[in-house]
Amino acid sequence: MDTRTIARRVRGLPASDGAGVKLTRIIGQRALEMLDPFLLLDEFGSDAATDYIAGFPDHPHRGFETVTYMLDGRMRHRDNAGNEGLLESGSVQWMTAGRGIVHSEMPEQDHGLMRGFQLWVNLPAKDKMSAPRYQDIAPAKIPEVEPSAGVHVRVVAGEVFDVRGPVSGVATEPLYLDVALQAGARISVPLPEQHNAFAYVFEGEGVRVGGESLARGELAVLSPGTAIDLAADGNAARILVVAGKPLNEPVAKYGPFVMNTPEQIVQAIQDFQSGNF
Ligand code: MN
Repeated sequence: MDTRTIARRVRGLPASDGAGVKLTRIIGQRALEMLDPFLLLDEFGSDAATDYIAGFPDHPHRGFETVTYMLDGRMRHRDNAGNEGLLESGSVQWMTAGRGIVHSEMPEQDHGLMRGFQLWVNLPAKDKMSAPRYQDIAPAKIPEVEPSAGVHVRVVAGEVFDVRGPVSGVATEPLYLDVALQAGARISVPLPEQHNAFAYVFEGEGVRVGGESLARGELAVLSPGTAIDLAADGNAARILVVAGKPLNEPVAKYGPFVMNTPEQIVQAIQDFQSGNF
């Protein structure tokens, strides 16, 4: 087995988005503009309402997918086609924006902890103008597997240790795992060989990824290979492990529009401004 190692380390940058939500931008910033097919990774986490209360009022998306994984808190989703959903602690929303939606993502709490991730996943050229699609997945629908003692893996998307996650029909065949390690636990997680992959430690210190230590808040871009070794030495830890099939297509990106050419971006702006989303 060809084990992956850390090819590159990236630390997130403090950023603000929506109407002033404080977050950490990990992918989609100068140090890591994208990791094909992943366009953006934001971590949000605060128990101060002022950091999140303004939420993300109406804004458009076209040409890619947004994946919201809520660890703690409640967020209400509404779009211009009348779709609505509540994202609760432990749930995931895999939204395929396709040809376009206008939506809001607003906190449904005025105090307490709100914590989670938003990942943007690119769509292949042939799917960029597809109909929007939602996969709203309740916490209980995300299976958890214990492949060895002290290791608990929530499988959001893809298949690992003979368990398949609930997200289906995604072009880039993603694997999206929330790996919890008790102190002293270790596991080798198989990853599709042709996929780009990253690991991000969001709880705990003393984690080793591919044999090297990786600090909390550090993202490791992984080298090619068929598996990644994870270990928690002194403390319990949680690690996001995500892999996806690279598209290797041109990317033209402007804010919430991600297409293949500048002309398609101009079209997206025109369509949005003329109310054709
Ligand atoms: Mn959005």
